[in-house]
Amino acid sequence: VKGKAKKAGKLAKNVDSAAVLGAGIMGGGIAYQSASKGTPIVMKDIAQPALDLGLGEAAKLLTAQVKRGRSTPAKMAAVLNNITPALDYAPIKDADVVVEAVVEHPKVKASVLAEVEGHVADDAIIASNTSTISINLLAKSMKKPERFCGMHFFNPVHKMPLVEVIRGENSSEETIASVVAYASKMGKTPIVVNDCPGFFVNRVLFPYFAGFSGLLADGADFAKVDKVMEKQFGWPMGPAYLLDVVGLDTGHHAQAVMAEGFPDRMGKNGKDAIDIMFESERFGQKNTKGFYSYS
Ligand code: NAD
Repeated sequence: VKGKAKKAGKLAKNVDSAAVLGAGIMGGGIAYQSASKGTPIVMKDIAQPALDLGLGEAAKLLTAQVKRGRSTPAKMAAVLNNITPALDYAPIKDADVVVEAVVEHPKVKASVLAEVEGHVADDAIIASNTSTISINLLAKSMKKPERFCGMHFFNPVHKMPLVEVIRGENSSEETIASVVAYASKMGKTPIVVNDCPGFFVNRVLFPYFAGFSGLLADGADFAKVDKVMEKQFGWPMGPAYLLDVVGLDTGHHAQAVMAEGFPDRMGKNGKDAIDIMFESERFGQKNTKGFYSYS
């Protein structure tokens, strides 16, 4: 393994500057993380209010660190200075890696990926933060699919250590090694996985949610299940609270992708708890109503 890591390290391109497309929950988090670990990043969106929100979130996280004595106002200013907001592609022209983090719509992502190739150097690497869309499918919209792979962060980016680096069938070794190196530079723990529905994490998580839904169908109390998982099993949160954090709309969509990808293992007979919550518009923390109430 050591030998392999050394070889991969040699293949990796130096990532001295980066760009993120999309300044939403994930794009803002990726920009903050890259900037605070010393890689300047351009954060591009199509809307000024989104850029303001992304920068505002980064400033909030930094202010909290200064208050806790973990940073200084000067360091905070330096990190914010490492994030360049942009509404057009011009400032991303020198980026070594571009992370696409726009809305989870295959058509929007495909057109953004095709577009961005025309604005970066020939050897720039492009990665998608998609949660559910096939990397091989997205690669079809690119002229140079060898420079493309998945780079799947988890929410909240500054707290969650894992990054799934998803290898498409045309991703080059240099692309994978460079994205692994960039994730490590960001202080994250990258794992390389092949392209498949759910990648790694959702293939583990959704059978767990299915088990949870089965317990509820058999009459279990969701709050008691959470308590058991947290207090007795030692997990940071139970399944109901986790679904509230992820969002039941996001969970519902990902569950459908898993059911389609693995009909024999993840297919369903009838509605389960995630369907019922979604149909009742109880999306979790984002709209203050989920398994728990947040108002
Ligand atoms: P979001 O809706 O908060 O942000 C998306 C941003 O993309 C918006 O600011 C929007 O203005 C911008 N955008 C739309 N079209 C654009 C374009 N053409 N160019 C530039 N910006 C554009 O979404 P999010 O939750 O940050 O999710 C972004 C991606 O990350 C999705 O693919 C999602 O599946 C993935 N993801 C989300 C989470 C999560 O928990 N939210 C976790 C992991 C991965």
